[in-house]
Amino acid sequence: MQADRDVCIQAGNCVMVAGEVFDQDDDGIVTVLVDSDGGAVQTAEVPGDQLAVVEEAVKLCPSQALRLVE
Ligand code: SF4
Repeated sequence: MQADRDVCIQAGNCVMVAGEVFDQDDDGIVTVLVDSDGGAVQTAEVPGDQLAVVEEAVKLCPSQALRLVE
């Protein structure tokens, strides 16, 4: 999964549906809580038990900042 912090518009939907994977920094921009490398585009391995909620977060993100990658 990738989260593009430059595209995020601080809506917070991802944190609402998948709070174990996503958080927001002090500016409201998405951060990834699992295995993130900390860059502007954060890439993380999604734990199997979080996949369904992460898929939901990708759907609900209004700015398409989130996407699932192989
Ligand atoms: S749902 Fe999208 S726009 Fe909203 S905080 Fe998460 S990544 Fe950012």
